[in-house]
Amino acid sequence: MSLLTLEDVDAYYGESHILRDLSMAVEDGEVCALLGRNGAGKTTTLRSIVGAKPPTVRDGTITFDGTGVTGRDSEDVSMSGISLVPEERRIFSDLTVAENLHLADVARNRSNTIGRSVSVERSGMSTEEVFDFFPRLEERDSQKAGTLSGGEQQMLAIGRALKQNTRLLMLDEPYEGLAPQIIEAVESAIERISDSGTTLLLVEQNAVAAIGIADRCYVIDQGEIVFEGEAEELREDEETRERYLGV
Ligand code: ATP
Repeated sequence: MSLLTLEDVDAYYGESHILRDLSMAVEDGEVCALLGRNGAGKTTTLRSIVGAKPPTVRDGTITFDGTGVTGRDSEDVSMSGISLVPEERRIFSDLTVAENLHLADVARNRSNTIGRSVSVERSGMSTEEVFDFFPRLEERDSQKAGTLSGGEQQMLAIGRALKQNTRLLMLDEPYEGLAPQIIEAVESAIERISDSGTTLLLVEQNAVAAIGIADRCYVIDQGEIVFEGEAEELREDEETRERYLGV
């Protein structure tokens, strides 16, 4: 059984039909990539999975670890073990690295107290464990998050997500705006997170970087899946890459 399954999902912003009969699956333990051009529907897919509104999922089903999560509110979905690091990274710029990480603990404990509808007990990584993944953050723990480099901010956003009880970590364009050597640092962190047993769904426009790190890939175009296969297959499928990814 796949860890995450989307079956024939149709999602809308108002009357605007964005995801069309979208089906995909993420297997336990893999790094899966969802690739596509600007506006293809990648972020809408992630938002549909985590129950963010908008969009509205009108048809189809989303199942996580055997349980239907379609239309659940985002707090419930997060409690069940899915974390999303959105494109805009959502860190608190005026707070330090340590304070940002501490706030993730506060949010987790608050959810533990008020969460009723999902029975999973949340226990994410400690700050020490996050620092093991990102020593760079430990070196900068008293620095204001807003003054970190783009790559360091990405590490902090991922670190905050790892403090949740995360079985599936979804990253929306983690390489965006990063210099090549910083991309390498984030890639190596993604590999170590994967080795630690967390399943990853990576959304990227940077197809070359994503293909390099993923086990399997989907390509989305105008809200429809147009390719599904091993990363290796996509690497060799020049036509799909040129047609839908522009590389
Ligand atoms: P990018 O790589 O540029 O982030 P994407 O593949 O993530 O693109 P989405 O953000 O999912 O694409 O957008 C898919 C379509 O939905 C686009 O046509 C976009 O304009 C539209 N869209 C996105 N958000 C909204 C919204 N809140 N209201 C209306 N339409 C939206």
